[in-house]
Amino acid sequence: MKMLIGGEWKTAASGGEMEVINPATWEKVGVVPQGGQDDVGAAVDAASEACSGWAALPPVERGKILFRTAALVREEVGRLAAMLVAEQGKPLREATDEVRGFAHVLEYYAGLSSSLYGESINTRLYGRIIVEKRPLGVCAGIIPWNMPVMIAGWKIGPALTAGNTMVLKPASTTPLTTLAIGDLFLKAGLPAGVLNIVTGPGETVGEALVTHPEVRKVSFTGEIGTGRHVAETAAQTMKHVSLELGGSDPMIVCDDADLEVAAAGAAAGRFYNCGQTCTAVKRVYVFSEVAERFRELLTEKTRAFTIGNGMEKRVRMGPLNNAAGLERIEAVVEDVRDEAEILTGGTRPEGKGFFYEPTLLAGLPADAPVLSEEVFGPVLPVVEVEDLDEAVEAANSTRYGLGASIWTKDLGRAERGCQDLEAGIVWVNQHIKVPPETPFGGVKWSGTGRENGVHALERYTEEKALLIRP
Ligand code: NDP
Repeated sequence: MKMLIGGEWKTAASGGEMEVINPATWEKVGVVPQGGQDDVGAAVDAASEACSGWAALPPVERGKILFRTAALVREEVGRLAAMLVAEQGKPLREATDEVRGFAHVLEYYAGLSSSLYGESINTRLYGRIIVEKRPLGVCAGIIPWNMPVMIAGWKIGPALTAGNTMVLKPASTTPLTTLAIGDLFLKAGLPAGVLNIVTGPGETVGEALVTHPEVRKVSFTGEIGTGRHVAETAAQTMKHVSLELGGSDPMIVCDDADLEVAAAGAAAGRFYNCGQTCTAVKRVYVFSEVAERFRELLTEKTRAFTIGNGMEKRVRMGPLNNAAGLERIEAVVEDVRDEAEILTGGTRPEGKGFFYEPTLLAGLPADAPVLSEEVFGPVLPVVEVEDLDEAVEAANSTRYGLGASIWTKDLGRAERGCQDLEAGIVWVNQHIKVPPETPFGGVKWSGTGRENGVHALERYTEEKALLIRP
């Protein structure tokens, strides 16, 4: 496949290429250009040229193109989902949901396009102030590999609806489905240069986008260290920056919770996407009165997660996406193997693919790193607590604050969780799902800014005040 620059499919200026492999089989599934600084320059030029024409279109006309793209994505969901399984590793059912979710996000923003308007303020003394909402200009979207299609939608949807143009950089292990969707945007009538997709390594393509003076906003999703570097670099050219940097989401299970439902929620919330979701359940704090029963139920549900190639029907959990991720998960478990109780899992199956068994840990010391750092894979620690005070204190004890959940039938406890858990999203009796209406993002080190909802649309515009004296 080639890169999308200025409405045309291009090879890298250097001629370089990168292979994409299937994480379940280690077979090559595609080749994409290894872009560099020159390619980013060409893409930003194309996006700059397209800016004024796109911004001048009535918002409803922009919305119509997004609606048409969403319809084409829905027609092609089978092909796109199979491509996503091949490059990312997730089961076909999850990939299908993700592709449909992408279409849903576009439809949501297309629907909002007719509600883009400014304000008028009457000051009497100085006359009327008109506040216009203007697009920012060229925006860069830097995408991770865990939910490459959905996260691309979270950036493209509000950026284009608000009248911006965009250069996307997919993760190096998962560029294929994003490029295929780029083609559907063109087929839907998106003008050349409004959306550009440059493939290549983060250190060159990502870096060139973040340093380019014409790029007015960088929306980044990925690791904390990279995010901090992106923010520092983007500050040199005064860009707007939005950072979604993952989390270590706690789940609190109270003694009055429906334990069947909570155990199913914990397993689905952790092992979805092989544990590689920023809002996955990453730590469980369960009241000691019900801990034994909860552990039994959770162990039973975890053992039901059949692992294998995501294209096989019976499979509920695919491989990790890449070798580095697998190595990190193996190291996390080895680190606690002597002191923790491994309720199930804890090994890597023989053979090809970046597979790791769904794993439950108990009996961990309070200072175990698995309880404070983001673990991006299928490992879930379960910790006993005496009461809600202890649970909330433990839940808030990390530097992260993306999501958190509380499972209870008691409205008072639910309200306490909503108020006191330090997180951008608090779920009650559910976890992980983020419909497009939800403002999505974290507090503390989980990042800055919000994606999704009308709130993201605000962040892709800036106010211009007009003070008019007749
Ligand atoms: P990274 O932060 O390295 O990668 C995310 C994106 O940033 C990729 O497109 C990457 O490109 C790009 N990138 C890398 N370096 C730069 C740079 N200097 N400037 C601009 N862009 C850059 O995350 P990883 O993929 O390495 O994942 C590591 C960890 O990050 C995970 O274990 C997890 O903890 C966290 N993570 C969190 C996610 C979330 O949704 N919150 C998603 C993915 C990861 P390239 O792929 O070419 O390196």
